Amino acid sequence: MKKILCLIILSLLFLTACGKKEEKTAFQKIIKKDVLTIGINTDSKPFGFISKNTNEIEGFDIDIARYIAKDMLGSERKIKFVPLTPNERIEAITSGEVDMVIATMTITPQRQYLIDFSKPYYFAGQTAIVEKDSNIHTFSDLKNKTIIVALGTTAEKNIRRIIPTARIVGYKNYKDAFTAFQQGKGEAFSTDDTILSGFMMDNSGYRLLKNKISQEPYAIGIKQYDDKQLKENLDIIITRMNKDGTIKELKKKWHLK
Ligand code: GLU
Repeated sequence: MKKILCLIILSLLFLTACGKKEEKTAFQKIIKKDVLTIGINTDSKPFGFISKNTNEIEGFDIDIARYIAKDMLGSERKIKFVPLTPNERIEAITSGEVDMVIATMTITPQRQYLIDFSKPYYFAGQTAIVEKDSNIHTFSDLKNKTIIVALGTTAEKNIRRIIPTARIVGYKNYKDAFTAFQQGKGEAFSTDDTILSGFMMDNSGYRLLKNKISQEPYAIGIKQYDDKQLKENLDIIITRMNKDGTIKELKKKWHLK
């Protein structure tokens, strides 16, 4: 009888130990599956866009993603990119569809209720473009005007707060928003200076407003885990990218300030 009891206890101990082994942190799970699933923008040149020459995804955010994959998994190819619209970013993170989002994503207190962020890796600001000969020069000239934005962005929220009299027309992504702006569906298109400068690179006839109405610190969005191992690792990598000159080189490569 004693022997049987001993055996039962030993088996229970063994099973518990095995069970514990399965409890991996998010970071350990990534290492085990040996691939990073990363949510990105595909229409926000120069951060994430499909190159006309190579037909491949490129940009500042994409280079950041590749550096992280190289650091965590030993190869910048170990990534599965998942194209997301701005509005889809948070849910893709909370549902576990992606391990992280690297997509011109601003840290905001509201978003911090839902997800965690790495430390920032780039600082942008919100502004707007208008037609070159427009008589709109500052954001105060946009009172009672129609402003185009991408839905689910800080641009949308900031305009609602700062210019409540503006009529906002929202689109699901930046490409559609810019096309609508070109078609004259609004007097201005407002988003981050970074994304607007990308549209200005390929299209003439537009002018950036001089003032910025916000600071947009870009960071990597991740799920809120009990342990902070993934966030800590991302923070270490971003610190290193700043120290070893990678961020500086990437800014130069993508013509960013
Ligand atoms: N940085 C913005 C965000 O995270 C995206 C650009 C925009 O506001 O249009 O929502």
